Formats: sequence, structure tokens, C-alpha cells
Amino acid sequence: MTEEKLSTFTAPKGTYDLLPPSSATFLAIRERIAAPARRAGYGYVETPVFEDVKLFSRGVGESTDIVSKEMYTLTTKGGDELALRPEGTASVLRAALQANLHKQGNLPVKLWYSGSYYRYERAQKGRYRQFSQVGAEAIGAEDPALDAELIILADDAFRSLGLSNYSLLLNSLGDKQCRPVYRAALIEFLAGLDLDEDTRRRAEINPLRVLDDKRESVQEQLVGAPMLRDFLCEECKAYDEKVRELLTANGVAFVDDPKLVRGLDYYTRTTFEFVHNGLGAQSAIGGGGRYDGLSEMIGGPALPSVGWALGVDRTYLALEAEGVDLDLPAATAVYAVALGEEAKNVLFAKVVELRRAGVATDLAFGVKSIKNAMKSADRSGARFALIAGDRDLAEGVVQLKDMSTGEQTPVALDALVTTLKEKQL
Ligand code: AMP
Repeated sequence: MTEEKLSTFTAPKGTYDLLPPSSATFLAIRERIAAPARRAGYGYVETPVFEDVKLFSRGVGESTDIVSKEMYTLTTKGGDELALRPEGTASVLRAALQANLHKQGNLPVKLWYSGSYYRYERAQKGRYRQFSQVGAEAIGAEDPALDAELIILADDAFRSLGLSNYSLLLNSLGDKQCRPVYRAALIEFLAGLDLDEDTRRRAEINPLRVLDDKRESVQEQLVGAPMLRDFLCEECKAYDEKVRELLTANGVAFVDDPKLVRGLDYYTRTTFEFVHNGLGAQSAIGGGGRYDGLSEMIGGPALPSVGWALGVDRTYLALEAEGVDLDLPAATAVYAVALGEEAKNVLFAKVVELRRAGVATDLAFGVKSIKNAMKSADRSGARFALIAGDRDLAEGVVQLKDMSTGEQTPVALDALVTTLKEKQL
């Protein structure tokens, strides 16, 4: 009865299981996205998957879909209001502030992270309720070179995976000097439009978000809207130009997108998004920007900062769309098949020895027929199979079979580990 019931469970809507063999690609994506950041001095940070709900409502912003519609919130038995993290930046900044990392050495504090994030979204391909991001944040410095560094690191990460069919969209959202002037002009413009109740409410909290509205009916009305680009103060303009200059000088192409606002309220100045051309509607494979006011919004000192988060799930889909196969080493290099009880004992010990010597080795368990066991050897992707029966053992050898050529040679048991090590598995 119980068994029958259990077998009907499936992963919750909007989630999926990572299973071999594609899970190996996921791990490799995470590692390769993080590698450029690690080489640039970013240290690993890990924070809890849940936080005080106010961290996100204050940090990410009440007007955002992420906070107003998509947060997984819960009240603990002790009465604490928590939320599963919908993004990484607010948590990472909270952790840095809590540990006073910004007081312990030179700024910026550079951190990278990798983990799962949760948003109650309308689930579809490329848009999940639990998804995976790798992120990087540089906290406490205002320097266009830092913005450029992060953008270049993200671009290097995508290139290192073999992706090329994507573009980088770039915009500046101004700062606390020039944005309010623009905001007022935009509010005046929006007041004259025919917007639905929901959009109007959003416009009241953060009018800039309306620019980002994907609906055709809204976009049509936005023709002629004032553009932030024309309102940027001298400092913001110069900052933006420097970032662009550094990107160009270092071979990173970008496209101006004056309407790029992104779904989080904390951005100031530089904002960017990487969009892939083979993914349909869910095309953003990563994004980020400068968030100079966030630290103060969550109770910290002024710490101008910049960062990004790249989507691992969508990067996987982008690799698929471009037909890129990551060149991953086979999980198993050697696969051992023992025929008979005595042979099993001897081979088992050799498998343990090989593993300890650093050779990825697996063993056929519960062998009923050599044919089946050899099929498993084949499926494992191993370069060599080790086969031993009682007769081989009596002669002190095992058979070493090259799985690609089918060639089989006896190797003395004593020489087995060195022989396989020499093959550089
Ligand atoms: P954001 O935190 O919204 O700036 O997202 C950064 C990146 O995370 C996006 O560019 C996507 O690649 C990825 N991402 C965000 N939301 C989802 C989701 N619901 N499902 C899959 N990937 C997501």
C-alpha cells in the first residue's frame, strides 16, 4: 500500500531533479561560471536559504513581482516571518555587514556564491520555482573599472563554456541626484497613459518598472516616453562612459538598452543583462548592476557595490540550443568485472587501491552474467575494463580490455596500478 502511494509522488510544479548524466554538465557549468571570478580574487560565501522576510521586502523592493507576488514566505513555530531567498545579493550583503567584512581590509569585499533560489513564478521551460544561480558581488567601492571587471568576468564565463549566440544589454539608471528628476518626468508622462489598475499601482511605487513591461499594449504607449539617458547627471554620464570604454577596450561588445530596468528596485547606475538568442521568451541568462543604496536600505553604512547573478538552468538550455557539448571526463575510467567469488575479493581490493591512487574506478556488483557486466562496463564510459576469473588469478594476472579497440591483454596483478597510472587516466 505505502509503496504504491510513494510511487505517485513527483517533484513539485516548477522544480525538477538533476540526474546523471546531465547533472555532471550542471556541476561543470557552476564551476566554469565561478572560475573567472575566483581568479579575480572573489572569495566563496554561503548564506542560509531562508532569511527574515523584511530583508527582501526592503532590499529587493515592495514594487517588484519578486517580493509582491513570488516570495515563498513562512511563519515559524516561534513566530518569525521568513522567506526562501528569491535572489542572492541582499543575503550576501547582509552576511558581509553582519561579519563586518567591510571593516576588515581594503574595499571592495569580493564574494562569489552558488545556490538555489525560489520564486513562485508561472512555471514554464526556462522559468522555474527553484532555480540555480552563480553570483558575484563587489562590495564597498565606486569605480567604473569594477563594474567593467564584473561584466567581463560574466562574459568570460559564458565564453569559457563555448557560448557565443548571446548579447550584452547595457544601461545606466542614474543615481540619487539625477534619478528623482527623471522619475518626476516619467510619472508625469505615465499619468497621461491608459494603464490598468495593476500597472498604475506599480507605477506609483516604482515608475521605472513600467518601462520594463513586456506587453505590447504598454510598450506602444511608451513611445515618446522620457528616457533616463537624457537625464543623467554629469557624474553618472562620465561613469557610464568609462564603463563602456573599458568594455570596448577589452573586447566585450554590448548593446545600448535605454529601457533596461530589471526586476529589482535596488539598482543604480550600471545595469546589464545577458540575453541568449536561442531561448525564446526566457532569454535572460544573467544580469546584474550597481546597487549603491542597498546597504543603507537594509540598515548598513553607505557601501556602493556592484554584482551579477547568472542563471545555471538557462545556461544549460543555452548550451543545448547552441549544440555545445562540454568536454567532460568520463566519471569512470576503469570498470572491473569479477567472475567468481575469489576473483571478486581480489578485484575488490584492486579497485580500492586504484581509487586511492586517484583512478576513477567502478566495479560490477551482483554479476549474474559476463555479458550483462560488460554492458555495464560499456555504459559507464570507462576506457578500460578489468576482467578476472579464477583461472586468471591462478596465473597472477587480470585481463585489461581497451574498451575502444576491444584489445585485451593480461597484466600482472602486482603491476596493475602502475600500468593504469601510466595510461594517465
Ligand atoms: P535576476 O535575479 O532576476 O536578475 O536573475 C538572474 C538570472 O537568474 C536570470 O538572468 C536568469 O538566468 C536566472 N533566473 C531568474 N529567475 C529564474 C527562474 N524563475 N527560473 C530560471 N532561471 C531564473
